[in-house]
Amino acid sequence: MDTICNNYIGGDPVSAKAAQFTPVYNPSRGEVIAQAPDSDARTVDQAVQVAKQAFPAWADTPAVERARVMFRFAHLLEERFDELARMVTREHGKTHEEANGDVRRGIEMVELACHAPTMLMGQTLDNVARGIDGRVERHPLGVCVGITPFNFPAMVPLWMFPIAIACGNTFILKPSPKVPLTPMRMAELLTEAGLPKGVFNVVHGGSETVDALLTHPDVAAISFVGSTKVAKHIYETGAAHGKRVQAAGGAKNYMLVMPDADLDAATSQIIGAAFGCSGQRCMAGSVAVAVGKAGDPLVESLDAAARKMRVGPTDNGGAPNTVDMGPVIDPMARDRVRGYIDVGLNEGAKLATDGRGALLTESSEGFFVGPTIFDHVAPQMRIASDEIFGPVLSVMRVDDLHEAIDRANQSPYGNGAVIFTRDGGAARTFARHVNCGMIGVNVGVPAPMAVFPFAGWNQSFFGDLHIQGAEGFHFYTHNKVILSRWNDPGKRVLGW
Ligand code: NAD
Repeated sequence: MDTICNNYIGGDPVSAKAAQFTPVYNPSRGEVIAQAPDSDARTVDQAVQVAKQAFPAWADTPAVERARVMFRFAHLLEERFDELARMVTREHGKTHEEANGDVRRGIEMVELACHAPTMLMGQTLDNVARGIDGRVERHPLGVCVGITPFNFPAMVPLWMFPIAIACGNTFILKPSPKVPLTPMRMAELLTEAGLPKGVFNVVHGGSETVDALLTHPDVAAISFVGSTKVAKHIYETGAAHGKRVQAAGGAKNYMLVMPDADLDAATSQIIGAAFGCSGQRCMAGSVAVAVGKAGDPLVESLDAAARKMRVGPTDNGGAPNTVDMGPVIDPMARDRVRGYIDVGLNEGAKLATDGRGALLTESSEGFFVGPTIFDHVAPQMRIASDEIFGPVLSVMRVDDLHEAIDRANQSPYGNGAVIFTRDGGAARTFARHVNCGMIGVNVGVPAPMAVFPFAGWNQSFFGDLHIQGAEGFHFYTHNKVILSRWNDPGKRVLGW
């Protein structure tokens, strides 16, 4: 029988009240391994009340003590690294290397949260007026909520709650119902690390659960990561209900290849960017723009590399990797990606590498689409503009750098853009004029490390303060400016 996931409220697993459930697959095998409940509004309210009650004492706990919990949490994540990575592989389908990256990048966020005492330091100016000193302090907001996508079961939740909690907030995580198991394990580890009950809670569910959180009067802030359509809804509804919101959305990331680029290096980076995590990354490189005579050699080289990729099940009981690419998340994703391959063919793009017939390393009922490359893609085609979120790479051909930058800037999104070149001038012009927040120069996936903001622009981000880095600490705190007048007992000061 499938396991029904518990919620995690007040430091304990709580069986969920729900009328509907989402199947959790092992996408490598096509088996349902659990059911995630669609928690109702009453359950949401229960979690919010628990988090609200836990807030005053946690906010009053010195920042060094809060950070100490994060140090212990980081230690436990290291101890359980393999177990967590295997869990990610099982419920998501990532290769071991990709799952290790998911957990590793997440731990780096916990390490950042350990810096809370320094990051929360305020500012002072003594004697702003005669006898008066001014200072700014950073205070937690209250109950914060995180709503996360399926594609990084460990890292994306860890983008949010470690910093929120280290800042003195309490937190409710609503993970993707497609990958609820890894977040639940992390909740247990946080309790083991000594986090007081009620500071961190997990409530499973879908859109109704999210709407109950978005409109709840006792929720102060919402962090969201997911598709653009939902990100907009979250931003608008959360803001209309008086909440602070950061909402990261989808993407379509362009990779420019100049004629002078190191072809082997560019090929390896583009293959990794397009097909890593089976193309299910918001920083996936989904369009390669070949400039001038780069076109033919690039497509030839990409096609040869894509054909060598071994595709198959990734969960093999912890034995070393035997595949380069795993499945997509569920049968709907597989059908959507295959549907886009039909769209590309109907639109007249040339299918250079067809992933639909990819041979698997072993037979499996899992959800597979092999690496797919379209050549001669035109800007008006849907495969050039829609986020496919699967292993499909579009190649466009243009005459010069400026045309290539224009192509990238036609995208409504603004997460990442990359250039491969040996020419510093071309790289500089590109970096200055491309309208995106995260730029790579000879780097295929320019995803910033924890200390930098995850700086999406345009339709890839709604809000003011991004996830990660100093902006993350600013998002989860508000300023208090304090002016104090203490007169010298020996002197009489008149007026202001
Ligand atoms: P999704 O938008 O379908 O779901 C994200 C979350 O929103 C889930 O928790 C889901 O349960 C909830 N949700 C879904 N529909 C909803 C609705 N109508 N109302 C309220 N809540 C709803 O995204 P996904 O398929 O899980 O993840 C893939 C998407 O996430 C891609 O678009 C990808 O680019 C994006 N993503 C963005 C970033 C970033 O930093 N910009 C990072 C990772 C993933």
